[in-house]
Amino acid sequence: MNLLKSMLSAVTLGSVLLVAPAMAQTKSTVGIAMPTKSSARWIDDGNNIVKVLKERGYNTDLQYAEDDIPNQLSQIENMVTKGAKVLVIASIDGTTLSDVLKQARDKGVTVIAYDRLIRDTANVDYYATFDNFQVGVLQAQSIEQGLGLKDGKGPFNIELFGGSPDDNNAYFFYNGAMSVLQPYIDSGKLVVASKQMGMDKVSTLRWDPATAQARMDNLLSAFYTNKRVDAVLSPYDGLSIGILSSLKGVGYGSGNMAMPVVSGQDAEVQSIKSMTRGEQYSTIFKDTRDLAKVTADMVDAALSGKTVTVTDTKTYNNGVKVVPSYLLKPVVVYKDNWEKLLVDSGYYKKSQFN
Ligand code: BGC
Repeated sequence: MNLLKSMLSAVTLGSVLLVAPAMAQTKSTVGIAMPTKSSARWIDDGNNIVKVLKERGYNTDLQYAEDDIPNQLSQIENMVTKGAKVLVIASIDGTTLSDVLKQARDKGVTVIAYDRLIRDTANVDYYATFDNFQVGVLQAQSIEQGLGLKDGKGPFNIELFGGSPDDNNAYFFYNGAMSVLQPYIDSGKLVVASKQMGMDKVSTLRWDPATAQARMDNLLSAFYTNKRVDAVLSPYDGLSIGILSSLKGVGYGSGNMAMPVVSGQDAEVQSIKSMTRGEQYSTIFKDTRDLAKVTADMVDAALSGKTVTVTDTKTYNNGVKVVPSYLLKPVVVYKDNWEKLLVDSGYYKKSQFN
């Protein structure tokens, strides 16, 4: 009744246009499919996006699939059945969603690929992410800096790790990194003693830390019994933790065996702590608050029939079409700037690092 009254007074005041979109928003549900809670970044993503969407009056249905593809599929199917108007999906395997997205398209649902590109389907409307190639560039530039390659130092031994081969981002990270590292490999300033190069040789299924640790163990025992490894390209903090424990296991980081320069990504608390202990060398900060905001802007625009703002209409071909994308800027984090970037900005609380 009160609602009716205020609507009527809005009409009387001639401001019905201001009321109508808010009403529409209140009714819409946004389904949010996240890959896993095993990494803190996805928990932050889920929380941030729910917060922003709720503030804007949407209902949200947030689900985590614990890296299980059938689980994620049925979660998305449920969202569609329950009437979600928009799907925001961070996929586990970016190639497995075609059938469920066809169902979504038939019901007029808008689909936003979140952080990871959804591949091999026309039924994805927008992509909100970071500049993934640049992530790889920054990771490799931190290795360049850590080793002093620009000052002509070297040769150094390096090993390369890639992300999950079913995640489109993994190729962008690797290619971005190689755009910096390859010239040093060609000139002999960097040597990959194992000769394991290329995503077909260095990828890490499901971004699994234990898989990375086991591979690092094998590399150390097969190629580094009589020489040191000076750097490891790692695309994600979780993998870096596995790699670092393998390195520590054979004595790196103690006595006269300096820790190699190890990169990372996501600025997870455990890895920042590792950096302050002098273990991990760098990580990449991708502010998930900004990603949540960009995604919510896409939701707003799509549901109100406005033009969705994107910054890139060339880069992300998903095998069927180029998906219009909004690319945010990643930032490299070191031991001496983490507090400014992560605590002063309010992303983390100082007490999380005690
Ligand atoms: C994300 C990274 C993350 C990785 C593992 C990628 O798709 O872009 O931020 O480190 O998945 O979760």
